[in-house]
Parts: sequence; C-alpha cells; structure tokens
Amino acid sequence: MNDTPFLPFTRPSIDERTIAEVSEVLRSGWITTGPKCQALEAALSRRFDGRPVRLVNSGTASLELALRLCDIGPGDEVITTPMSWVATANVVLAVGATPVFVDADAATRNIDLDRIEAAITPRTRALLPVDLAGLPVDRDRLNRLAAAHGLRVVEDAAQSFGAQWGGRPIGSFGDLVSFSFHANKNMTFGEGGCLVMNDEAEARRFELLRLQGVQRLPGGGMEVEAWGAKANMTDIAAAIGLGQLRSIDDFNLRRRQLARRYFERWDRSLGFELPSEDTELHGNWHMFQPLLPRAFAAARPDFVAGMKALGFGVGVHYPAMHLFSMFRAMGHARGDFPVAEDIGERTVTLPLFPAMTDADVDRVCAAVTTVMAELQGVRP
Ligand SMILES: *Cc1c(COP(=O)(O)O)cnc(C)c1O
Repeated sequence: MNDTPFLPFTRPSIDERTIAEVSEVLRSGWITTGPKCQALEAALSRRFDGRPVRLVNSGTASLELALRLCDIGPGDEVITTPMSWVATANVVLAVGATPVFVDADAATRNIDLDRIEAAITPRTRALLPVDLAGLPVDRDRLNRLAAAHGLRVVEDAAQSFGAQWGGRPIGSFGDLVSFSFHANKNMTFGEGGCLVMNDEAEARRFELLRLQGVQRLPGGGMEVEAWGAKANMTDIAAAIGLGQLRSIDDFNLRRRQLARRYFERWDRSLGFELPSEDTELHGNWHMFQPLLPRAFAAARPDFVAGMKALGFGVGVHYPAMHLFSMFRAMGHARGDFPVAEDIGERTVTLPLFPAMTDADVDRVCAAVTTVMAELQGVRP
C-alpha cells in the first residue's frame, strides 16, 4: 500500500475564478436561463464557425430533442452503436422509434462504417454515431453515407468536445451535433448539454422543444402550438460553462500529453490491447481504455478491485448495450454484435484527467503491472 491520495479515473477541474463567477450569479437575483446562457451560446457558436447552438440541461435532452427536431417517431428506425452509454439508445426509445444497432469496429471501437449500409431499411431515418472516448467517427465517410441514403445525422459527440476531423472542430460542420457537459466529460457544467444546428429556423424550433413549446408574443402574450420539454439550462451552470470554455483547450492538450505518456510507459508484454494511438491527434482523449488480455476478461472485477486496493479508480465504459435485459427483451442476444461484446467484456477506463501529473501515469502503469502479476499468480 502507499499513502498517496486515491486517484479516481476522472475528476473535474474548476478554477477559483469560475467559482467566484458562479457566486456572482447566485447573488445577482437571476439564476435560471438568462444572460449567462446567452453569452455561452454565443461563445460556443463562435467555436463552431458561427453555426447556431442552443443549451439544454443534459446531453440526453439534447439528443432526444434533436430526434424530435427531425420529426423522428414511431415506425422510424435510427442506426446507432451498442458500444456507448445507454442514453444513446434510450433517446431513440423515448421518441417512440427503434434503435437499430450496428457492431463496432475493433480498431476505433466506434460504429463500423462498413456495416451501416446493410442495416439501412425503408424505415431508417437517421444515423446516430458516437465518438467513443472522444475519438471521432470518420466524418467524411459518415456524411457521404447519409447523403447517399437521404438520412439525417445526429452526432452523439457527448465525449468529443474539442476533437477534430480533417482539421475542423467537431461541431463546426455536419448536420446536428450534440454535446454533453456531464461531470465526467472533458468540459463540464455539472450537468448540461447543447445542440449545434444548421440554421436559425431549426434553432427557433429547438427553443420551443426545449421549453414547453411556449412562444412569446409581442405585447407579453404567449401561444403554444405543440408539445415542448422542460430542458432549459440555468445561468448557474452557464457561468461554470463560461469558465470551462476558457480552459478546455488547455485541458485537452494536457489529456493528449498524459495519453502519450501512457503509450510510452505501458508494459506491452502484459498483453493488453491499447486504444488506437490516434497519431493525427483527432481525438480529445476523453478516456484511456486498454482492453484486458482475453484470458483475463472474466477476471475484470479482480483487476478493478486490485487497482482500487493500490489507490487507483478504474471504470467500465461500457458493457455492450444490447446485452442489457431491456434490449434482450426486444430480441437481442449474445453473438449479435461480437466486436462490441468483446470490447464490453475487456474494457477498463484508467485514470486520465487534466490535473494528473506525469508521475501519476507512471504510478498507474506500475500498478497495472503489479495487479496483472497477482492475477497471473492465481491463474494456471
Ligand atoms: C454522457 C453521454 C451521454 C449523455 O449525456 P448526459 O449529459 O449525461 O445526459 C450520451 N451519450 C454519450 C456517448 C455520453 O458519453
């Protein structure tokens, strides 16, 4: 055992200036949606090449309302990946449509673009890809596929804020792009999300969808023509967001440095499969996720417990979604998506967040070696 503090797999970085700015909002008399939300939407829009951006209170709300913006509902199919947080498919169910899974690609762990075409039916309305761990799906191929089949694209970019494709920031091009600002994401407001859209007309419809469908009329009246959710963001959260936005590029730079150090210090003889090295630096290194050696897949709980005993938090992101009982009840079974299943059984999320030191990475690597030696000792 050591006496250094426990290192979680992630931890948000909130600076004192941001904390002071949140206090100002709390003292201001206006704490829900207001000037801070407006300022944050404008700042985000500038990052995304002037495209309209609207904030909501979660990434899940952003995805669900994006599907509603596309008029996707009962009878429609949305193609997505089983290797994601369950929100990605839950939002499809929430609008009454059917999530159609396509297996992951073993190299990127994102949706396998080669298998999408075979999953398209006359009912398919949209593609809902995920940038797992912040490594972007190939946007050129994705958008070409969507255009060839007349499909909308709702990018679940919950994990890829600050990532790039072809030198352009994710969000600054494409169709609808959804981000999350949950506490574990590279940029966080505690909770929150936003959608990047194509034009002001879409943004206006999204504003109605996010807050009760209420239209404000000149002279102080109001009108409601259609249902809307309750998904607006607070100025308290937006003040955190404005502070995070000052630092996000430094955060992501630091994440890349730490990821590089993992690759340098990792003991390759242990037999893990490391994530794609992403030498062109498209990604934002939202997570660092080696896959356990196959012979140790069943020992993952012991690996997690062994790391915890040495002072390191290890997460599992994610078990393949189609094996959850809700999706089994819809007809899915083991063997449907073997690549996602294999990743889901072996993936471990190791500590990676901007406040970590290089020495922290070295300590994690040493602990992994120690724990694997222990596990090997108790196995034939
Ligand atoms: C975090 C996340 C979401 C949901 O975002 P929330 O803000 O937690 O609602 C959706 N998809 C992916 C891939 C995520 O990582």
